[in-house]
Amino acid sequence: MLAAPMAAKVLDGKALAARIRAQLANEVKGLTLRGVQPGLAVVLVGEDPASQIYVRNKTKACQEAGFKTFDHHLPADTSGLRVLELVTALNANRDVDGILVQLPLPRQIDSKKVLLTVDPAKDVDGFHPENLGRLLMGEPRFVACTPFGIMKLIEEAGVDPRGASAVVVGRSNIVGKPVAALLLNADATVTVCHSKTRDLPSVVATADILVAAIGRAELIRGAWVKAGATVIDVGMNRKADGKLTGDVEYAAAADRAGAITPVPGGVGPMTIAMLLANTLTSAKRRAGV
Ligand code: NDP
Repeated sequence: MLAAPMAAKVLDGKALAARIRAQLANEVKGLTLRGVQPGLAVVLVGEDPASQIYVRNKTKACQEAGFKTFDHHLPADTSGLRVLELVTALNANRDVDGILVQLPLPRQIDSKKVLLTVDPAKDVDGFHPENLGRLLMGEPRFVACTPFGIMKLIEEAGVDPRGASAVVVGRSNIVGKPVAALLLNADATVTVCHSKTRDLPSVVATADILVAAIGRAELIRGAWVKAGATVIDVGMNRKADGKLTGDVEYAAAADRAGAITPVPGGVGPMTIAMLLANTLTSAKRRAGV
């Protein structure tokens, strides 16, 4: 007899992010009354349309939560030196608790050099090697926003990573590697897959917790998903019809999973909420809270 399809719990990142942002706004109010208004500086170079949308959404979320924002929109032909000078000035500015440099930067600018120049104590994106190193050592200061949001979604699913088999597909420095480190720190048994992994379907089939961060529409087939698994789909892929889709074949995976994030409305909104959370943490440090 065929088993009846399971209805996975849909992990609503939009609703969770809204709840977190409301809590943060309350804390921001309290801190501001004590004379410390959390401040985020955003550096955008050039006219990349996607980057402009991301920056606008981040700035709007900050302002709604009562943060002070410092917008630095520079022309596409800005020199690397100018960007380094700006970041150095923001490092020294006491009203700035977090610095976000929107990537990608134009070709003439050495992104690595810029990210290394951001004061690790203001690196609310968690991209500085010092913060990545601390995360690996199990002593995080700032956790990159998307991986941080992924862990909150796993928590929301009511899943304890301890002892669970976790499979992360993707090994980028901004998603795959930090999320693997976080899962390891949470005592999961972690496998990281990438483009050279042999037999991806059979590795995916072992996952109690599956994180797909690939950037290939629906590469993870629903039939590969272990029954009852928690599936976190980080992918944001634009289809020919303009609609967004994830890295996981959603409907088929939802028939097998215990919990699953939709795209859009899953991981994406959590990324912004965690940026605010990191900036508030930094401001609290400034206030000595
Ligand atoms: P990268 O391109 O930096 O990394 C993609 C990873 O996927 C690489 O490690 C690559 O392997 C692996 N990969 C590629 N093809 C395959 C394959 N056929 N089988 C197995 N692994 C494969 O992407 P990012 O980590 O920056 O982003 C991943 C996705 O997440 C994108 O869709 C991006 O848009 C989305 N994203 C969403 C965010 C959000 O807030 N929702 C935030 C950040 C990213 P290899 O290392 O061998 O090349």
